[in-house]
Amino acid sequence: MSKVIFTDRSAEPHYNMLDKLEHVFQELGLDEAIQPGTRVQVKTHFGNWGNTNYIRPAYVRKLVDLVKDAGGIPFVTETCGLGYGAGGRYGGRTTAIEYLTMAAHHGFTEASMGAPLMMADGYWGTDVRTVSIEGGDFVETVHVASAVLDSDIVIMLTHAKGHGLGGLGGTLKNLGIGLVGKRSKSKMHFGGDFTINEEKCLGPECGKCMPVCPVNCISMNDKAVIDNDSCMGCSHCRSICQSVVKAKAVQVVWRANEEQAHVFVENAVGVVNSIGRDKFYYINLAIDISDKCDCWNVGAPLLVHDIGIFGSRDPVAIDQATLDAINDAVPNPNSAVAGLECGEPKFMTAHACKDKSGEIIHLAENQLAHAKKMGLGSREYELVTITKEKPERGSDWP
Ligand code: SF4
Ligand code: SF4
Repeated sequence: MSKVIFTDRSAEPHYNMLDKLEHVFQELGLDEAIQPGTRVQVKTHFGNWGNTNYIRPAYVRKLVDLVKDAGGIPFVTETCGLGYGAGGRYGGRTTAIEYLTMAAHHGFTEASMGAPLMMADGYWGTDVRTVSIEGGDFVETVHVASAVLDSDIVIMLTHAKGHGLGGLGGTLKNLGIGLVGKRSKSKMHFGGDFTINEEKCLGPECGKCMPVCPVNCISMNDKAVIDNDSCMGCSHCRSICQSVVKAKAVQVVWRANEEQAHVFVENAVGVVNSIGRDKFYYINLAIDISDKCDCWNVGAPLLVHDIGIFGSRDPVAIDQATLDAINDAVPNPNSAVAGLECGEPKFMTAHACKDKSGEIIHLAENQLAHAKKMGLGSREYELVTITKEKPERGSDWP
């Protein structure tokens, strides 16, 4: 059984949400684990443009300040997204310049964070180190974002919300999608293969997909040809063909079935194994919980009331505890789960999908079961609620 620390969403002047985050930081032992010179990666998600439910920058800034107070060297990271979303040449989040520009629009800058902000997988999303794993059903090699390999400690600051392929978008998703490069992301979302629709491709007259390929794996005959064995899965060809040429000739088959969560869970194994599981600390912010991931360009109506902050050293236990709390919460009347009772699974309704036999499956349950099977952690947990006594009115009372 793993320990999960919890503090609820109540807030008072002597114990606001940033105080609570600090309390979780201390309870996780981070103030002692971080020594002078310790390089600490704070991994979060900057949100897609149009999404208004992403983590507020103040939470990240607070963690950065705590790391510095402990003597550590913080840096704030995210990884490049695939080519979809809200505008931009490559879809808005696909390259470092696109994503960091959007991060600035959302309030995440080096100045506001007090620490360097970077894409952990480099400019194109292809700066990775490959890590082999055993026991997976789908993954043998994980393309881990390079910045992980140069971290002494990684703090996963995760926004708990829904996810179309995993049910819950929590810590496991942040590890298995959020800290891998494009190749692993592509494999997870659509199996990794890009195909050219020859009827739509404009051929040598166009060729605009070729110079944006970071590994030169597009050749040209009468039509463009992609060598999928060399492809890094960056999706730039697809984005250019779609947003600039407007031919939509580069195609992928987006998947949504029970296998996708298994793939990102297996990716998560490679991420935590890359530098050692003892280097990872997990924090879930269970606030602003909608059915949509922060990669969507919409801040969808919230499913339930804000719940609070969870912390753990176990990535499975923290997601299980977060999921249980969300399922137990009262549904919001204007949300996708209006009409459900407390205790009914929220993300099953919001993200139901069918398995091969046509049965509706519970993606979050499926994800957590596979994470346990892969040995990532325990679904059994002890929830330790932390709080702070209200001080007597006096000099320290605002
Ligand atoms: S950008 Fe699209 S239309 Fe142009 S050559 Fe490449 S695949 Fe064909
Ligand atoms: S073929 Fe397309 S997706 Fe593959 S590496 Fe080249 S630009 Fe990226």
